[in-house]
Amino acid sequence: MRDVIIIPGDGIGPEVAAAARLVLGASGVGINWIEKLAGAACIEKYHTPLPQETIDAVRSAGVALKGPVTTPVGSGFRSVNVALRQELELYVNLRPVRSIPGIPSRYEGIDLVIVRENMEDLYAGVEHMVGEDAAESIKIFTRGGCRRILRYAFEYAASHGRKKVTAVHKANIMKLTDGMFLAEARKMAAEYPALIYEDKIVDALCMELVTAPEKFDVLVLPNLYGDIVSDLAAGLVGGLGVAPGANLGDKTAIFEAVHGSAPTIAGKNVANPTSLILSGAMLLRHIGEERAARAVEEAVAAVAGGGKALTAEHGGKTGTRELAAAVAAKVKELI
Ligand code: NAD
Repeated sequence: MRDVIIIPGDGIGPEVAAAARLVLGASGVGINWIEKLAGAACIEKYHTPLPQETIDAVRSAGVALKGPVTTPVGSGFRSVNVALRQELELYVNLRPVRSIPGIPSRYEGIDLVIVRENMEDLYAGVEHMVGEDAAESIKIFTRGGCRRILRYAFEYAASHGRKKVTAVHKANIMKLTDGMFLAEARKMAAEYPALIYEDKIVDALCMELVTAPEKFDVLVLPNLYGDIVSDLAAGLVGGLGVAPGANLGDKTAIFEAVHGSAPTIAGKNVANPTSLILSGAMLLRHIGEERAARAVEEAVAAVAGGGKALTAEHGGKTGTRELAAAVAAKVKELI
């Protein structure tokens, strides 16, 4: 049995976490789920949205599946997601973006991988007021931070049969920060002659992702652009409800959906659990359960993707629990 921390989170979090747990359970992989709390739901009990106990448990198990958490705006609490990434040094945010046949979308055949830097940039959270009427936020890039995310992206591309890496920046304006990222990307590209390398300014990239997404393969981006572009990319394959993700460090990995806690649809059994289920497939692959991971992905494609069972996000009537049960049944059949 492998210990895996499960953090249900807020809003639709507990519903999609239960769905993912059911599907992973159907794969037969021996997982000992250890539930820990984070988010608005635990502030009353722990006086913090991120109890130390949760951080320690994730560090000790090394692997977690996390539902989305609500970040109270302007409350003085640090974002749970940013804090977890900082505490556990999860410097990679990996977001595969793949079309699922049958899931309504304007595009088909999309197969991109977004590698987002997860700890630096404006997300370092170094902000202060300058007098009463001005505020500054400091954008931090380090050469080491740039190099390790770029290394991850190039290595990922080389080891996953990918052909091209696109480094995304705005170095024409931010010559020191983005300029450093770009210079390191160009240097590193020379070490991978078998991969096609290109760099793109982030605004031009957004336009091209919408007009010709098939031109891209692996994208590597600093934190802020990566955050924005991954939601855009999720839109290419049917929305936030189908986009999985992982936060990775050298020792710890937290798998989570790209979407947030969607409070307006919470508790209604209408949220699409596909994103967290597919994040669960990434988790299975991470712990060496490739066959089970593939079964989960195939089951999602067969059930959710076949157009037979769609949630409200895609104009269907299938509930969160019913979709999860159908995917779990298909996983049992495939395994
Ligand atoms: P959101 O992703 O929660 O919702 C955006 C839109 O997508 C909403 O219309 C929502 O109903 C819909 N949606 C999201 N997930 C869905 C799903 N699985 N199925 C069907 N529809 C879905 O983004 P938001 O409204 O900007 O944020 C809400 C809260 O979530 C905020 O407190 C924010 O800070 C937090 N958040 C958390 C995470 C995380 O924990 N990883 C990520 C993003 C946002």
